[in-house]
Amino acid sequence: MKNLKNALLLKQLYQLKQMGYHYTDITPYKEESTSFTLPNGFEALTKQAMGCHLCELSKTRQHVVFGEGDIHAKLMFIGEGPGASEDSMGRPFVGRSGELLTKMIENVLHLKREAVYITNIVKCRPPGNRVPSPTEAHTCQPYLLKQIELIKPELIVTLGGTAYHYMTGDETGITKVRGTLHQQNGYTLIPTYHPSYLLRNPSAKREVFEDLKKVKALLENP
Ligand code: URA
Repeated sequence: MKNLKNALLLKQLYQLKQMGYHYTDITPYKEESTSFTLPNGFEALTKQAMGCHLCELSKTRQHVVFGEGDIHAKLMFIGEGPGASEDSMGRPFVGRSGELLTKMIENVLHLKREAVYITNIVKCRPPGNRVPSPTEAHTCQPYLLKQIELIKPELIVTLGGTAYHYMTGDETGITKVRGTLHQQNGYTLIPTYHPSYLLRNPSAKREVFEDLKKVKALLENP
């Protein structure tokens, strides 16, 4: 897959940069190599991600947190990356922010958590819950793009500024863009605040409530 090959090439370039190179001839990339092609089946894709060692995060993770939920869901949530609870359980959004996300899905959208699909920009925990680096996010991106390609959601809700940024390339702050609709690649993307931000700033729950009401209306009337 082209994206994965590009991610590997980018990784190679970052490694050379860390070694002190500023300019270097590009190492010819062997296009005929097929060993990194991502499978088109969800089970095989999950298996491949579980054994992934393409970036530094694989060295410190306990579990790969690939995602969970209905693989035919119309609605997908994308967070930033697993935290400590998620890393130890191998499941996305199971800590305090996960509890809040589950409540939002059940109480505002009136859906079961299992009826949506939940994943993250990176599938392994960034140590100390730091923001994933651009290299980590881009290396992991082919997995996310493949998940989206296979699930074919109508709507994607990005949680927090990092998920919005890596899904769109737009660096506008989350406060400005939350609640706006973005048509891309056959789905509608709606950014909203991250549940962990809501735990620190409960008054912002009202805005997320508004964003999710929009999501509910779009699900009912695409
Ligand atoms: N925060 C995230 O962004 N993702 C998780 O899975 C948990 C917390």
